[in-house]
Amino acid sequence: MRPNSQALKHRSSPDTEREFGGTLGAICIPIFLPLTVLFLICVSQCPDASVLQWPPPLPSTDQLWDHLAPVLLLGWIALHALLYLMPLGKVSEGLVLRDGTRLKYPINGFHGLCISGGLLMLLLGLGAPLGHLFELLLPLAVCAIAVSFLFSIYLYIRSFWAPSHALALGGNTGNPLYDFFIGRELNPRIGKFDLKYFCELRPGLIGWVVINLGMLVKEAELRGSPSLAMILVNSFQLLYVADALWNEEAVLTTMDIVHDGFGFMLVFGDLAWVPFTYGLQAVFLVVHPQALTALKAAAIIALNGLGYYIFRKSNSQKNQFRRDPTHPSVARLETIATATGKRLLVSGWWGLVRHPNYLGDLLMALAWSLPCGFSHLLPYFYVIYFTVLLIHREDRDERQCRAKYGLAWDTYCRRVPYRIFPYIY
Ligand code: NDP
Repeated sequence: MRPNSQALKHRSSPDTEREFGGTLGAICIPIFLPLTVLFLICVSQCPDASVLQWPPPLPSTDQLWDHLAPVLLLGWIALHALLYLMPLGKVSEGLVLRDGTRLKYPINGFHGLCISGGLLMLLLGLGAPLGHLFELLLPLAVCAIAVSFLFSIYLYIRSFWAPSHALALGGNTGNPLYDFFIGRELNPRIGKFDLKYFCELRPGLIGWVVINLGMLVKEAELRGSPSLAMILVNSFQLLYVADALWNEEAVLTTMDIVHDGFGFMLVFGDLAWVPFTYGLQAVFLVVHPQALTALKAAAIIALNGLGYYIFRKSNSQKNQFRRDPTHPSVARLETIATATGKRLLVSGWWGLVRHPNYLGDLLMALAWSLPCGFSHLLPYFYVIYFTVLLIHREDRDERQCRAKYGLAWDTYCRRVPYRIFPYIY
């Protein structure tokens, strides 16, 4: 089969805004971020754990490679691909695509979490050395980075066979480096298997909590039992992952699925960045035990609970409103009309700030770091990075909403002046 020449002719217009620093970003990010992953794992495992130490800790080749790592990583991805294909849970339709069709998606990520979690518990019961994940972390990250590059190359090449309406609007600029990075094809599929949707919440997100569990087992091996700090980090992050999978259907309306092509940015984020940097607190705690009083633990649990409440309530309110604006839980909220026929909420959670869900997410991120104390910056990496990510994401979303809703969006901004933090930003 020859590549689709229609798609090559219908490129994004030359003045299509390029995101993430354009070509320069597309060159630097795929070099810089994988190195950052390896650097952060090395730092979190060494006694100093100082991100500012110079020269930075350099791993030996022995530490970077283990033949078990590719077997475990590919086996894990294959297990989740199998679970994805199992006829469990309901099937949902995504939003209407540019050609007027809607794709179908299996909503069975939570089943995947439970079944793979059950299998893991069984293996643990049979004496599987889960704590060895601590030593395997660097080789696993190296493999995940290699898989991300190879998979993104495959996605880039196959996108030339996709029809023009199946390409992401911002990912077909004709600049190979940028298009490879940002993603050309919107919903690449092998038969009914949706590659982007599969990667979004399954192998990486569930892999993250498995790594956390491995760190808990390692700590128990080293000190007899897991610490309260480790239990809190594991529980908070498991709640977050379980919540995302329980509400998997909501991912069908997110920017990642609706707007972004599937390229290196999302592949690397899903398969390498999330599992190997989001749980650094647990890795840190293996080497840097923290004593936590009951009072401090209670305050941290309350902060996580507050963040989760805001995050869940605001996301659910918007999802419910978008699915059925006449539903009793949202019907009485104040809204403004837009020229597209869709309405915008201006009361309830979305009347407090323009992104209450980001506020809740950030409060939780802080609660995940606090059990690690204040002696090091490293456990705060996630909350710092996430603040930058969500401020940038909020800005991208605002620009897309302004383009979609025009004057109505300006009215919304006047009615709800703060973006994420009430009275601050
Ligand atoms: P959001 O759920 O915030 O959705 C933004 C969209 O909501 C807008 O494009 C618009 O779309 C709609 N919207 C905005 N304002 C209103 C309003 N007032 N009334 C009705 N609809 C409105 O998008 P995200 O995908 O960024 O975030 C989803 C969740 O995922 C968040 O909780 C976020 O914190 C989390 N997240 C977590 C990440 C992680 O790495 N842990 C990474 C990214 C996100 P439209 O009008 O077209 O419906």
